[in-house]
Amino acid sequence: MPDMSIQNELLSFSNQELTDLVTRLGHPGFRARQVAEAIFRQRRDSLVGVSNLPLALKSQIAEEGLSVGFPRIHQKFTSTDGTVRYLMGFADGESVETVWMPEGDFGEAGDGTEAGQEELAQLASDEKRTHTGKKTRSRATICVSSQVGCAVNCQFCLTALLGVKRNLTPGEIVGQVLAVLRDHDVNLQRERMNIVFMGMGEPFLNYENFMKAVRLLVEEVGFPESRMTVSTSGIVPRIGDFGKEPVRPKLAISLNAPNDAIRERIMPITRKWNVQMLLDAARQFPLRPRELLTFEYVLLDGVNDAPEHAREVARRAAGIQCKVNLIAFNPGPGVNYAMPAHSRVREFQSILVGAGLPTFIRRPRGRDIYAACGQLKRTVS
Ligand code: SF4
Repeated sequence: MPDMSIQNELLSFSNQELTDLVTRLGHPGFRARQVAEAIFRQRRDSLVGVSNLPLALKSQIAEEGLSVGFPRIHQKFTSTDGTVRYLMGFADGESVETVWMPEGDFGEAGDGTEAGQEELAQLASDEKRTHTGKKTRSRATICVSSQVGCAVNCQFCLTALLGVKRNLTPGEIVGQVLAVLRDHDVNLQRERMNIVFMGMGEPFLNYENFMKAVRLLVEEVGFPESRMTVSTSGIVPRIGDFGKEPVRPKLAISLNAPNDAIRERIMPITRKWNVQMLLDAARQFPLRPRELLTFEYVLLDGVNDAPEHAREVARRAAGIQCKVNLIAFNPGPGVNYAMPAHSRVREFQSILVGAGLPTFIRRPRGRDIYAACGQLKRTVS
């Protein structure tokens, strides 16, 4: 994979790195704050029009070969449910997909459990009107990519068909968020946004860049870490590292099977880290007060969706502070699995709920534009 350690975009720079840059160029340290304000908060894609920065500094930054590094929105596909799938292009011509999902991330409220009631209450409060009487666009989730393609090769995933081309830089990860926020003119103070790192790629195979992007989103963009979730296919050593991070999103593990026999078939990475290792890592993961770990489970008709599979999941996950998100498989070209009947999904859910695991059925989003889980692939290219 090409070395992306040399980053030419300012969106990859921490405040300390920006300060080092401007002082090396002979300017006072406070200029770093102004640069950060322009790119991370005002979402400027160029410093040219930033009037409070001296011309000399702007040209010196350009002479260093540095640019802001905002991704270009090549194409936008809007679903009938309001989901928007973006094709974002970077300086080297590579592209990824980023998804905007209005009003909630996964439609996971309402399964009758205590957690379900909390989610419903939250949704209700999000629907409140402002003092002007105008209804706010109160809640949306941005699904962000971490790599161009993916090497993990989950058999039900369209992204896997691409293989992995390269890691994204921190600025390319942050840039996706900023481009979508700008496109929707989002006021982060007023509107409740979530980020899920569940787009193309395995974030834990691009760990350093992913974690730096998280810190930039928290410290520079102003996104609370509690509103971010990262999903991993089960890179066990990185789950341990992630638990030690002082600033981190919530953790979701893409489980998808109750045992190694089934999981190896659909997620070959299981041969490296098996289900027991994964569940042990989940059990040892240090959760914050009231935090729950999420297990995601894509239900594939006739493969992993039987009642005995649900009972096995419940038995093996017992004692882990978690909830389960069930996702009925999203069919796509080139992937030979089918969607289970809704009654089967419901039965799977009720077995897990009966065993004491809060379990939600995720509403598929943007299925008509291939924006739903496991469907991200540059279908236009
Ligand atoms: S499901 Fe995620 S980890 Fe698996 S191949 Fe697709 S993008 Fe990669």
